Parts: sequence; C-alpha cells; structure tokens
Amino acid sequence: MKPLNQQLSKLPTTIFTVMSALAQKHGALNLGQGFPDTEGPAHLVQAAVAALQDGRNQYAPLTGLPELREAVARSNSRFYGLEIDAGREVIVTSGATEALASSLAALLNPGDEVVVIEPAYDTYLPVIRLLGAVPRLVRLTPPEWSLPREALAAAFGPKTKAIILNSPMNPTGKVFTVEELAFIAGLVASHDAYALCDEVYEHLTFGARHIPLMTLPGMRDRCIRIGSAGKSFSMTGWKVGYITACAELAAVIAKAHQNLTFATAPNLQRAVAIGLDQDVVYFDTLATDMKVRRDILASGLHALGFGVLPCDGTYFLTADISAFFGNGEDDLTWSCRMTEEGGVTVIPVSAFYDEAGGAPPRHLVRFAFCKKPIVLQEALTRLRDWLMR
Ligand code: PMP
Ligand code: GLN
Repeated sequence: MKPLNQQLSKLPTTIFTVMSALAQKHGALNLGQGFPDTEGPAHLVQAAVAALQDGRNQYAPLTGLPELREAVARSNSRFYGLEIDAGREVIVTSGATEALASSLAALLNPGDEVVVIEPAYDTYLPVIRLLGAVPRLVRLTPPEWSLPREALAAAFGPKTKAIILNSPMNPTGKVFTVEELAFIAGLVASHDAYALCDEVYEHLTFGARHIPLMTLPGMRDRCIRIGSAGKSFSMTGWKVGYITACAELAAVIAKAHQNLTFATAPNLQRAVAIGLDQDVVYFDTLATDMKVRRDILASGLHALGFGVLPCDGTYFLTADISAFFGNGEDDLTWSCRMTEEGGVTVIPVSAFYDEAGGAPPRHLVRFAFCKKPIVLQEALTRLRDWLMR
C-alpha cells in the first residue's frame, strides 16, 4: 500500500489525550488537559437548547450568524476600543483550533517562514509544516519566561510571513507586556509580516492586563485575533471560535474556513452571542474565580517544595520538579509515574517544544487549575502523601 501523509503518520497523538487516558486508567485527578470541571453559565446552555428547538438546525452562514458576528464586533469595541465591521471582519469557526488552521492556510505559501515562540501550543507546528511552511523557533527563558529579544529579532528575515503570538500564553501563564508587544509589533511592521494572535485566554488574567497586539499602532491590518467560547464561557466542548481581522485577510481566511468546515453549529453560535454580550461583571468574576484557584494551587505546590513559576493568566501554571526526580527521570516519565503512584496527572512541558530547536527543558510540568477548589486541595493532599512515601 502507498504510504499516507508522512507528517501526519509520524505525528504522535496529542499529549493532552495521552495524559487524559492515563489519568482515567489510574483513576487520577486530571490536572493535565485544560478543561473546567464545572459547567459554564446555565442561561447559555438554556439559550442553546432553545435555539435547537426553534427550528434553526440547518447550515449557518459561512462566516457565522450575523448576531454572533455583531457580538464579536461589540466585544472588540468595549474591551479593546477596536472598531470592527461585523459583516466583513469577523469569521466564526469550529473552535480556535480551526481558526488557527484556517488562518495559517490563508497566510502561508510553501517555503514561507513563521516565527513560533516556545513553549508552543501543540497544533501550531504540525499545521505550519503541513502547509509546507517553515517554523523559526524562539524559546522563552524560564523561570521568568522572559522574551529573548535578540533571538526573536534574529528569527525574522526576508522569508518571514508571520509570527504566532499566544498571550495569555499556554502553558506558561505569561501575559505579554506592552513593551514586549511594542517590540514584536516593530519586527512585524519592519518585515512586512502578519501576526496570528491566539488570544483564547483573553478574559483569564489575574491582575496583568491583556492587550491585543492588534491595538498597537500599525497593527490593525496585520493581526488576526482569535478568541474561543470554550475558554471565555467554560464550555470547552462547544468548539466555537471567532476571528477578527481586516477585510482583506478575512476574505481569504473565509476561503480556508469554507473548505475545512464551512459552518459552525447555529444553536451554539446563538448562545455564544448572548455570552459575549454579558455584563463585564461576568468576565471579571470568571477571572477572579480562576485567580482563587491559581492561588490555592500555587501556594500548595510551593509548600510542598515545588518551584512555582510566575503565572498571570490562563488555566495553567508551570512548576519545577527537579527536586523530585528519580534516577534517569525526566518530565514525561515523572508525570506518568505521578499519575500511576500519586493519583494526580499533569502535562510534561517538554511536549510544547520541538526537537528542531535543540533539547527542550525537561524539569517542568504544567498543572491545570481550572478545577473546583476542593479538587485542587485533594490533589495537593495526594501529592503530599506521595512525596512523603
Ligand atoms: N489555543 C490555545 C493556546 C489553547 O490552549 C487552546 C486549547 N483550548 C486552543 C487554542 C484551542 O481552542 P478551542 O478549544 O476553541 O479549539
Ligand atoms: N487547550 C487544552 C490544553 O492545553 C487542550 C485541548 C485539547 O485537548 N485539544 O490543555
């Protein structure tokens, strides 16, 4: 038989699925894959149910229901002062995952280079490579996850088509500062490039302010801004994403979207439109509740002797586990052993690195804290018992 696609054939199953399966097998508390263990707002679930029952079950328009596109435009305006044409500058997708793939497909020709900051969310590199484009990897420096500006500047060149910027950033919890954004904007502008801005955690920051790169001078028409209802409304299974981009970019992204999924479930779109229009109190409470969870986990891990790295946003914090390694262990083997013996599952941070950039750090793991406080407490108790054994 002829070989199938080489890149996909050799790609491992995503670490989130691998670790969730292991957690299930061993009955471990899953602080690996990032999903909340509580439902999102009940009135949004009811809105989705009502929409199913009032006969709106056929294809939604290609770029999304007008009511959702208008809500995305309003949300851009009230949170960031961005004036967006809902008709021409918003595209609804089946999750941020599809938004990323559609945007990359719209941007890239074979041979184009894309600057990717590591640790990187795991769909970026496979999609870039499937499109025949070439990633240029730049690594943040732990424990502060600082941006190496010289290395970033050196990664840009004549072939650079785009940079992917994930802020607030998975898995580091880093929220890029306005100074860092200004530096990145300068590189994007001077290289006539684009920025694909993965902002799915835009409403999950803990004191630090999330600033879309798109709001910086000269960036309005160079940025593609991606949001996710899964993250903003704690319903990761809904898979509704939304793209904001200037009309010229959006027109080509829509061509990719029409060939990948064409349209997204209309009932969920209607509910998400209501979600985006909620009072700011909803979004503030979402972040405040998550900050409480971060603090429980961070202080608990610190008390157990973990090196806890800074975390200003997202569902995640990273921790240094080198104090706990057994002989010849690394982050992956340790994470598997902790799942089996300790009953708590995390994600090894080396999974967010590509070997092409050299040996990844192997002393860090990612904990998801988007869980009930009582679950986080139980996880800390299990960890304490395991470490004392
Ligand atoms: N980007 C980042 C950084 C993520 O963590 C995730 C995972 N939730 C996604 C994109 C994908 O989002 P969605 O579930 O909406 O496809
Ligand atoms: N974004 C989630 C995480 O980082 C996982 C999404 C997935 O499993 N595909 O944990």
